[in-house]
Amino acid sequence: MEFKDPASYTDLSQGKIKHIDFHIHVDFSTRTFDIEAKYQLQEPVHGFLFLDSFRIDLKEARTNHKELEWEFDPEDEFLGQRLQLKGFAGDSTFTLKFRTSPEARALQWLSANQTVGGKHPFLFSQCQAIHARSIFPCQDSPSVRFTYSAEVEVPQELVAAMAAEQLEIQEGKHTTFLFKMPQPIPSYLFALAVGNLTFRELGPRTGIYAEPETIEAAAWEFAENETKIVEAEKLLGPYLWGRYDLLVLPPSFPYGGMENPRLTFLTPTAILGTRGHLSLITHELAHAWTGNLVTNATWQDFWLNEGWTTYAETRITEILEGTDSKDLHLAFNEKQLIAIMERVGMNSPQTCLKLPPEKDVDSFATSIPYYKGCFFLQECEYAVGRERFDVFIQKYMASFQFQSLTTEAFLDFLKAELPEVFEKVDVQPKSRFRTGIVIRYCLSYKGCPKKYQWRIASTSMIFSNLKREMMSRSFLFSTSYVL
Ligand SMILES: [Zn+2]
Repeated sequence: MEFKDPASYTDLSQGKIKHIDFHIHVDFSTRTFDIEAKYQLQEPVHGFLFLDSFRIDLKEARTNHKELEWEFDPEDEFLGQRLQLKGFAGDSTFTLKFRTSPEARALQWLSANQTVGGKHPFLFSQCQAIHARSIFPCQDSPSVRFTYSAEVEVPQELVAAMAAEQLEIQEGKHTTFLFKMPQPIPSYLFALAVGNLTFRELGPRTGIYAEPETIEAAAWEFAENETKIVEAEKLLGPYLWGRYDLLVLPPSFPYGGMENPRLTFLTPTAILGTRGHLSLITHELAHAWTGNLVTNATWQDFWLNEGWTTYAETRITEILEGTDSKDLHLAFNEKQLIAIMERVGMNSPQTCLKLPPEKDVDSFATSIPYYKGCFFLQECEYAVGRERFDVFIQKYMASFQFQSLTTEAFLDFLKAELPEVFEKVDVQPKSRFRTGIVIRYCLSYKGCPKKYQWRIASTSMIFSNLKREMMSRSFLFSTSYVL
């Protein structure tokens, strides 16, 4: 069956991007980037190549040998414009020169008075789900992964940080920061921030960027991150991204956290002065495996990113904070799940694990894939026992590392590795255990199985059991939206 991502103009039959070398000049006065990008393709391309774009001012397109013709289709409200590059003759590389728009959806430009320090402007990107196309023309589908290098030119007094490995800094009229991302990423994990940033080491693999006014508090708050990585590795396998740093953004960052590889972007509201915002960091760290290493092939398969991450988060929470705390998180998640499903309607296609083919993926995203996905994986664990399921987790991560997969491909793998899940998992009350029910559950089952709703009855008991512990540890739930 031909693969199609409804949120992208990508046509995989034309070829795939393999690597991009960026030169990015960041201009705060016009709130734009001037970019020269050299693209390498996995295979030589003949004829057309369709790329996603949003309000890109394209100035030049060429291969090694000749100019390419191009045409932008009319703008779609959600998808932006399809950029048709024409005239490839078996070429494996091409170069685009362009300028981004001040309205680029992935870029947030802040004036100095919107920062903590109040003296310098700030810029950050947020590409998930389909906004990388407003920074550079690309196959903006999580099914396509590429490596990259970047030279980022910023005003002398500012610092650039990317979700990539920093190589060197060159001083001059502008300061140029050199980065490389040797592990292939989907476009939504491209990330950049520029501002008056300072850096503090936290551990052998961990550190934190923040404005100078925030760095002390931030470094104290997240000092225990190395411990979390060690625990996450026990569950999910080796951490394959090199460093794991954090970047604390100004307060206008719209999410709790964003799992950009090697460099999680964080809200400053996570700095509580209590080291109490544990679930946020645990969630973003788990994404280094579930989401970043093994990625949903389309946003319809979003539960493969978020359900797995929420499941891993509960397992790491159990190790670091104990079973009671994990149970409290689960009870909270169950309540949330029911509340969201009641809001969107129990019969809404939004309540399926495999989401319908929508192109407005941002407004379609709810927490349902997080919680319903997590509970499904828990059912799988209960069916085969924790020991066997943990072996499965490590094999899943190793088998699909740096790959993107669909729900259907996941089910094929699950069936090959843990066939008894398909006999034992009873996701619909009073149904006979039978092969096929799990597949239907993942692909088309709407609403919430009654068995989850029964478990919610125990919530008040869990709350009262944990009340004293919560008070003594200043335990706080995140009210911010975690990606
Ligand atoms: Zn997440």
